[in-house]
Amino acid sequence: MQIQELVDLKPFNTMAVAAKARYFTTIKTQTDVQEALAWATEHGVEPFVLGGGANLLITTEVLDRLVMRMAIEGLEVVGETDEVTYVKVGAGEDWHATVDRLITMGYAGLENLALIPGTVGASVVQNIGAYGTEVAQRVQEIEVFNPATDEVEAMRAQECDFAYRHSIFKDATHADLVVLSVTFALPKVWTPNLSYKELANQVEGLETVTARDVFEAVVAVRSRKLPDPKVLGSAGSFFKNPVVDHDQFLALLEKFPSIVHYDVGGGHQKLAAGWMIDQAGLKGHREGDAGTYEKQALVLVNHGEATGAELWRYAQMVKATVNAKFGVVLEPEPVIL
Ligand SMILES: Cc1cc2nc3c(=O)[nH]c(=O)nc-3n(C[C@H](O)[C@H](O)[C@H](O)COP(=O)(O)OP(=O)(O)OC[C@H]3O[C@@H](n4cnc5c(N)ncnc54)[C@H](O)[C@@H]3O)c2cc1C
Repeated sequence: MQIQELVDLKPFNTMAVAAKARYFTTIKTQTDVQEALAWATEHGVEPFVLGGGANLLITTEVLDRLVMRMAIEGLEVVGETDEVTYVKVGAGEDWHATVDRLITMGYAGLENLALIPGTVGASVVQNIGAYGTEVAQRVQEIEVFNPATDEVEAMRAQECDFAYRHSIFKDATHADLVVLSVTFALPKVWTPNLSYKELANQVEGLETVTARDVFEAVVAVRSRKLPDPKVLGSAGSFFKNPVVDHDQFLALLEKFPSIVHYDVGGGHQKLAAGWMIDQAGLKGHREGDAGTYEKQALVLVNHGEATGAELWRYAQMVKATVNAKFGVVLEPEPVIL
């Protein structure tokens, strides 16, 4: 294991923020994880596991941590039942490439999550979701390194407290677990999930719809709506869609009859943060190099040289503007460092 100092993180975060890591190491094996964590303890430095940096905003010029860039590889079929095939994938594998590869190998089930940037390990941390699918639906087991016991432990999906953009790995009690691999349970009998109209429209006219068709449809729809991180820095959706109770929703509906909302049960409604930001007049707005994406107001973008602090200030402005108009508090989706 090699520790580097003051490494430029711009290539390692999709917001393209030019921050530096005080210490940096690349993780290729479980032993690397153990050695890096031991080094961090010995030097009194807090570790930080970095995947593809697609769900982060680094607000400081120098991140005073040991950045452990997850690069554990591997993909293998590890078992099957009559219903599913189990495929174990290394935490450092690229998410989109994995979905693509699995479909080529004949394993469907993750196609609705195509083109989400980042790594396989982080997919379960965030419980990534898109087009009516969440990764939690396909997770069988997660292998983690637990620094408290100095051991590798296997966690079943049911133990991970998966919810909308949430898992147990985000809780303070479990945040120090390092995901080493994820085993997916992929259905042998597959039916396409075309519950999203845009996706259904994209495959309209096809006689039979394959997982590859859905994969390509997702890529096409996403490419039209979301910025390519290689071209324009972003972390995808910057705010979570807020959930409000029945009374607050009725008051909002009276004032804003066209408010976009989804019933999430229990008398609660989920509101579309992007719609609210748009209504607040901020779609395509820009202050210096920090701005809101012109095609999707929920996405904050770095037009070039915005610093993390500038992007964070811009996010605060968006939050305050939406709060002033709707009385709704937006929470950031990415991890703020
Ligand atoms: C253009 C764009 C579109 C996006 N669209 C979507 C979308 O549709 N749906 C969606 O859900 N998300 C979306 N995202 C967000 C992002 O892609 C996901 O959150 C993704 O899972 C982040 O993966 P990452 O490897 O880059 O994680 P990072 O940003 O590197 O890390 C995120 C968090 O996970 C932790 N972490 C990472 N790897 C590990 C590990 N192995 N063990 C323990 N902790 C770990 C980190 O410490 C950090 O706290 C989008 C982002 C972009 C830029």
